[in-house]
Amino acid sequence: MAHLQLQKVGKSYGTVEVIPGIDFEINSGEFLVLVGPSGSGKSTLLKMIAGLEETTSGKIRVDGEDITHLDPSARDLAMVFQSYALYPHMTVKDNMSFALRMRGEDPTEIDRRVKDAVTMLDLGGLENRKPGQLSGGQRQRVAMGRCVVRNPKLFLFDEPLSNLDAKLRAQTRIEIRRLHERLNATSIFVTHDQVEAMTMADRIALLKDGKLQQIGSPQDLYLRPNNSFVATFIGTPE
Ligand code: ADP
Ligand code: MG
Repeated sequence: MAHLQLQKVGKSYGTVEVIPGIDFEINSGEFLVLVGPSGSGKSTLLKMIAGLEETTSGKIRVDGEDITHLDPSARDLAMVFQSYALYPHMTVKDNMSFALRMRGEDPTEIDRRVKDAVTMLDLGGLENRKPGQLSGGQRQRVAMGRCVVRNPKLFLFDEPLSNLDAKLRAQTRIEIRRLHERLNATSIFVTHDQVEAMTMADRIALLKDGKLQQIGSPQDLYLRPNNSFVATFIGTPE
């Protein structure tokens, strides 16, 4: 069974329909890259999956269970944003453990999970620093660490690399894929960068004007584009 299923998922803001109705499924363990031009509805779709935007129509299921109108905090997923929104007055360790402490988890268990995440994200030695004493790449890893400690099944990334320079972006792409494999996670990674999509994805879903143009492996979209928009976006040679 698919881990995540979208059935005719639509969104309107007032009378403006930005997503008429999208269908797709993601298998457990899959890394799906959601790509499309600015304004095509990528963030809106992720926010509906996370419960940060109300879904206007259709159904969202996780492992078969209808989560369309479930509270965001009741969803077993984590979202990584472009702006890290770390707490500036808290240390790395406290930023990472904050959500678990709020939930009243056992302190020993919190400690163990933070230690694991610190190792996994190569943040050893930086545990007691504050965000202002870290580089952009390190702050990005702390933001991911905050998600990792919650041990979610589904990861949603909304253009998390846009604030990084080219070299760090290339390196972080690899780190995110490695994290995905290690955690046995299912991931949706949003970008407007076709190179990022081609190099990271198991499958690519290409959006335009709130409509799914094609979903398939990078090879599928490259070799067998559904229409000229897909061909141009992916860069199929004439
Ligand atoms: P993307 O992430 O692909 O750049 P978005 O999901 O942010 O696109 O936006 C999709 C469309 O929805 C755009 O036309 C945008 O202007 C519109 N939109 C997004 N958020 C709102 C909002 N809160 N109110 C009205 N329109 C919105
Ligand atoms: Mg966006």
